[in-house]
Amino acid sequence: MNLILLGGPGAGKGTQAKLIVEEYKIPQISTGDMLRDAVKQGTELGKKAKEYMDKGELVPDEIVIGIVRDRLKQPDCEKGFILDGFPRTIAQAEALDKMLDEIGKKIDAVINIYVPEEEIVKRIVNRRTCKKCGAIYHLIYSPPKEPDKCDKCGGELYQRDDDKEETVRERLRVYKEQTEPLIEYYKKKGILYNVDGTKDINGVFEEIKGVLSKLS
Ligand code: AMP
Repeated sequence: MNLILLGGPGAGKGTQAKLIVEEYKIPQISTGDMLRDAVKQGTELGKKAKEYMDKGELVPDEIVIGIVRDRLKQPDCEKGFILDGFPRTIAQAEALDKMLDEIGKKIDAVINIYVPEEEIVKRIVNRRTCKKCGAIYHLIYSPPKEPDKCDKCGGELYQRDDDKEETVRERLRVYKEQTEPLIEYYKKKGILYNVDGTKDINGVFEEIKGVLSKLS
């Protein structure tokens, strides 16, 4: 099963991707996570990407497309994969179509998680992420048992640099301008499925499972 998770920043793509990974045993390919790793490791690519990420802008297409192309060649993608945060522009979607064509694969479903803008801002500014294992918390809706400490691995929780309110507003603007057109792009291909992202985590996951159960 080859999937794309679409949705604005803070729509719950990362959270749902992790649930899908557990249930369907396919790897999550998160360009955001891969870029943050590169930034942490201080690679050339990471240094370049950081300039854009800190401002809430998109990293140039050629960088991100290259990362995804390499990742899709890994053996664990043989049985399927879930793209989280990619594609984010029409150019990326076209590049993805081309690279999948070359390896004889196609996308089975694009799941669009919809959440209204004000709800997104509320969600993101309260989001905390584990430095060690990447688990995601929300200070109001799903707080950790102990402040600033991950329930799963004990790692330190932090607020992503790009989760501050000003940057969130910019990311929303960029999403509307550059990523939202993908909804139409995949609708035309007949593989778009909308999911109500305002439900709680399990409610959204149930909707996603409903969609996936209909694919064969
Ligand atoms: P995310 O974790 O998906 O919210 O991504 C965090 C940041 O990484 C974004 O605001 C962008 O700066 C960058 N990024 C992640 N995925 C992409 C992509 N597909 N294209 C361009 N930039 C990306």
